[in-house]
Amino acid sequence: RLRELAKLLDTEAITTDGVKIRLSANIEIEEDLKALKRVNADGVGLYRTEFLYMNRETVPSEQDHFKVYTKVVRALKGAPLTIRTADLGADKQATGQLASRTRPQAHNPAMGLRGIRLCLSDTSLFIPQLRAILRASARGPIKMLLPMLTTVAEIKQCLKLVEQVKQSLREENIEFDEKMPIGGMIEVPAAAIEAERFAKHLDFLSIGTNDLIQYTLAIDRIDDQVDYLYDPLHPAVLTLIKMTIDAGLKSGIPVAMCGEMAGDARFVRLLLGLGLTEFSMPPNLILETKRNLITCRRATLKKQVSTMLAAHTCEERQVLLDKINASAP
Ligand code: PEP
Ligand code: MG
Repeated sequence: RLRELAKLLDTEAITTDGVKIRLSANIEIEEDLKALKRVNADGVGLYRTEFLYMNRETVPSEQDHFKVYTKVVRALKGAPLTIRTADLGADKQATGQLASRTRPQAHNPAMGLRGIRLCLSDTSLFIPQLRAILRASARGPIKMLLPMLTTVAEIKQCLKLVEQVKQSLREENIEFDEKMPIGGMIEVPAAAIEAERFAKHLDFLSIGTNDLIQYTLAIDRIDDQVDYLYDPLHPAVLTLIKMTIDAGLKSGIPVAMCGEMAGDARFVRLLLGLGLTEFSMPPNLILETKRNLITCRRATLKKQVSTMLAAHTCEERQVLLDKINASAP
């Protein structure tokens, strides 16, 4: 099996009707770079930076961030690196000095001061990371990704801060990529519904299905008692994913998916049929996904998926999806 997958290393990820698909990796720690190299990914679609805030006493400095980012970008040898700014809080707790601020003090930490909300509420936490990401952008192709966006106002605040940071770097004669793309995670239902408006201010979107499903279906992603309700095929979830992909197409900006759904073999065909062309997933799932998608004809999947979406019940949808998946050679 492994040998069979290894043969796919240099195979282009392209559907039988010629649609090029980007398969990029989700990484968290430096160790993941090794796994990444073994699978020939199209760069990193999601670098979760929260680990930098964990297993330590002090808050990481600009230099701490910079050292790690330059190491990662160098290891990628010219492939793009998407760095997500700190998504702390709720299911991602910091340790040490920061712990008291990311620990769930609220009854609903997932709906509290987490992700971009925390960063915008305390720019002394945010600015060192922004400076480090910008500085690292002089060393290789870096994109910045903002987590947990809910409003256009948050995007504008972030862009304003980035502009201020760029200005100070210029004054200090420190190099950075003036055109570093800035994208937003679509993981709150409001963001998916507003995706077209979000797209006006951003260079790319990335769908975070883990949180999107949690917030759309009102189920805590880490609560086992309700995990039976965690359903990526819920029509509301599929509608929001479709809205986001369509918004990207209409606005002319790329849309990726970096939530777990993107690496799940059961959903590759469905997502291709919805028009998704960039999948980001743990490195160990990339070759299997490639093996699956190179047998697909996108035009056929589009028709099959639109029929599936029109089905009235979950059971009917599941039957149609099973049929789509069974048609795989
Ligand atoms: C997501 O929410 O789908 C996502 C990719 O982010 P995380 O799992 O890190 O919250
Ligand atoms: Mg998320």
